[in-house]
Amino acid sequence: MEGLKEQRMLDFVVENAVRGDPQSVVDTIDNFCRNKEWAMNVGDEKGLILDEVVKETDPLMVVELGTYCGYSAVRIARLLKPGARILTMEMNPVHASVARQMIEFAGVNNTVHVLEGSTADFIPQLKQNYGVDTLDFVFLDHWKDRYLIDTKLLEECQLLRKGSVLLADNVVYPGIPDFLEHVRTCGRYDCTNYPSRVQYMNKEDALEKAVFKGCL
Ligand code: SAM
Ligand code: MG
Repeated sequence: MEGLKEQRMLDFVVENAVRGDPQSVVDTIDNFCRNKEWAMNVGDEKGLILDEVVKETDPLMVVELGTYCGYSAVRIARLLKPGARILTMEMNPVHASVARQMIEFAGVNNTVHVLEGSTADFIPQLKQNYGVDTLDFVFLDHWKDRYLIDTKLLEECQLLRKGSVLLADNVVYPGIPDFLEHVRTCGRYDCTNYPSRVQYMNKEDALEKAVFKGCL
């Protein structure tokens, strides 16, 4: 097949989804990934869990680690109240470009801002350069060797407050044991595991919610 899957996903959305309708964009991406080509979005099954945690948290300030094509950013944005913001970080320039177009097509570009570069660079800049005080909700869905390092960076940069919610994808497949050990045993988080399945596949996976209890 010619070209990149991410571009084909975007083309499929532009052809088949309703401009300005984020639910239609989410559904059309799921349709593409179930019926045409698999892709690494959080997907429709785990997406329902993501929706529930976003709704119960009702966040104003959201950070996403790992944008890919913007699926989860659009998914989260469609549930947020007016004035809420998502800063989503993506280091792959092709993915960042597709995501910006996806987000614009879905009509949530006033809510979602793609920060192109690495989480290691952006997390320490959030307070000074992006007007962040503390984070209400963080979705971790980037490379798995970064979850623990970036969680510790969020802690060190004092971006977490009592009640900040971390939600981590892929804690069973491929699994993130060092991150799970940290949030489950350091005493600063209340953790809940949500069993589910790998996106668009019949294989076990889960999300982990870790609610920061504050600095002891
Ligand atoms: N959250 C997206 C969704 O559900 O639609 C899927 C994200 S995909 C699984 C992971 C993305 O994280 C990839 O596009 C990858 O380039 C990006 N990524 C990985 N490590 C990163 C890092 N340290 N900083 C920024 N982006 C990163
Ligand atoms: Mg994932």
